[in-house]
Amino acid sequence: MRYHRQTLLPQIGQAGQDRLSAARVLLIGCGALGSTIADQLVRAGVGFLRLADRDVVEETNLQRQTLFDEADAREQVPKAIAAEKRLRAVNSSVKVNPRVVDVHAGNIEELAGCIEGNAVQLIIDGTDNAQTRYLINDVAVKHAIPWIYGACVGVEGRVMVLRPPDGPCLRCIFPQPPAPGELATCDTSGVLGPAAVVVGALQAAQAIRRLSHSHDKNIEQLTWLDVWSGRFRSNSITFAKREDCIACGRRIFEFLDAGDRGALTSLCGRNAVQVRPQTAVRIDLKSLATKLSACGSTQQTPHLVRCHLPPPQDLNLTIFPDGRMIVQNTEDLDRARSVYARWVGT
Ligand SMILES: [Zn+2]
Repeated sequence: MRYHRQTLLPQIGQAGQDRLSAARVLLIGCGALGSTIADQLVRAGVGFLRLADRDVVEETNLQRQTLFDEADAREQVPKAIAAEKRLRAVNSSVKVNPRVVDVHAGNIEELAGCIEGNAVQLIIDGTDNAQTRYLINDVAVKHAIPWIYGACVGVEGRVMVLRPPDGPCLRCIFPQPPAPGELATCDTSGVLGPAAVVVGALQAAQAIRRLSHSHDKNIEQLTWLDVWSGRFRSNSITFAKREDCIACGRRIFEFLDAGDRGALTSLCGRNAVQVRPQTAVRIDLKSLATKLSACGSTQQTPHLVRCHLPPPQDLNLTIFPDGRMIVQNTEDLDRARSVYARWVGT
């Protein structure tokens, strides 16, 4: 009975609901778009939802990231963990798999289930950066997994359903990612909460459509919207597929094959740098916290260690069990690297 109002829909019915309940989905990014997407898919009764997100909840997220509350921000809970707790309370029959990770070329195929031979049926983009979208596109094309692009900045948003190998891929439409810093981001230009909710809702609707209808064809479209003026536009992209496309035409996966190079990432607009180990490591949070407590005020939670290094350094460090560190209060990559080498190792 739980899904009665949904199975009543002629577009879904009981057969569609059954397909939805068996579906496996990877959602990359659990911020503003991801909150709405995850909430809607879990309420709709998707079978399995893997949530991958690298960040912790901060106070400035609460204006638009609807899965989180003040306690999450106060305790700086990783978003994937806070989301899973909330989603489990919403619908305990959905298997939600939280992963506190930075998604990169070295782990995205594993996250998509391609390594274990149990690939997800859909990947949904809830990220806020172009590099990850091109990486998602490579995996989607390589393994023939449909994916749903979503982007939102200011009062505008874009949603696109991509269905390789039949339809066009991201690189058929936008062959190259924008240069770093070229595009406006939420961190530098702001974002209206309802704009993100509308984009996330459109992505969730297309996901439910895709997952409940195994034979749905010709659903590739690019939707552009401006929630401030109320303008909305959708164009079919079914015929945008290009035979000479580097990804889906020539099957060269530049972003995936680049390997795990991005060990240092400046988190644009946030005055912070992320440092990620080149190889897989497992950090003992307890002994790290003991070591760090000699140098500054340190807290340990089940998911991370935080430390404030007092002036003259004046840095806030957050370290996760996978060896990833976020160094706040600097945009200097070399400085972040040396702090990382000193406290976590190279
Ligand atoms: Zn293509």
